[in-house]
Amino acid sequence: MKKIMILSGAGLSAESGIKTFRDHDGLWENYNVMEVCSTQGWIADHKKVTKFYNERRRDLEFKEPNRAHKVLCQLEKEYRGRVIHLTQNIDNLMEKAGSKDIIHLHGTLTDLRCEACTEVFDIGYAPQDGSEKCPSCGNKRLRHNVVMFGEAAPEYSNIHQAIRESTLFIAIGTSGNVIDIVSIAKEFKHSILIDPKRQLIESAFNQDNYIDDYFEHFIQKKAGESMDEMMKIVEEHMKD
Ligand SMILES: [Zn+2]
Repeated sequence: MKKIMILSGAGLSAESGIKTFRDHDGLWENYNVMEVCSTQGWIADHKKVTKFYNERRRDLEFKEPNRAHKVLCQLEKEYRGRVIHLTQNIDNLMEKAGSKDIIHLHGTLTDLRCEACTEVFDIGYAPQDGSEKCPSCGNKRLRHNVVMFGEAAPEYSNIHQAIRESTLFIAIGTSGNVIDIVSIAKEFKHSILIDPKRQLIESAFNQDNYIDDYFEHFIQKKAGESMDEMMKIVEEHMKD
């Protein structure tokens, strides 16, 4: 059976106004990446990290899904059970667009996690103020539900499964710095790269190769603007 593997990143949500550390040159207002996104930072200063994620959660509340989120949600409905969408994004814009079936590789901003029993539960856009209790075990040692540098990302096991099961790979708005999209693309005969910029592979041995060299199709546009072109290729692929 033909199946689609989608791997999305920051470029998918950029048109909705979601920014990343990359947009801020590694500094986000007064926060340093390693202070708020690493296990060392978390151990050093729970308060600072909690405040950072509270602010991100508050910012997310009024962000709206863009055309790409909506079309990807349609795609999921049209080919129910045949689309595996893995996202590196921690926002909930796919869910806001109506998606029921998305895998967040790096966690979710609108959830908290219990440090005692690992239960994950929804906090919406509310700030974590220390009064929360784990609904499962009652523990009050809670943290944000975002994967930090220095810890395992259990959802990554879905990547290998998706590669095995799928016949078409679509990479949207991800530069391949965190997850190596070139080695994934090499596993596929059919693939689409969506990125407004042509990007070189960041490797000491591959100085002259572009990421798009390894994809069957390259749509050099922003996510929202690439959807019609992408859908044509998808529909052709999924025929018969
Ligand atoms: Zn618990």
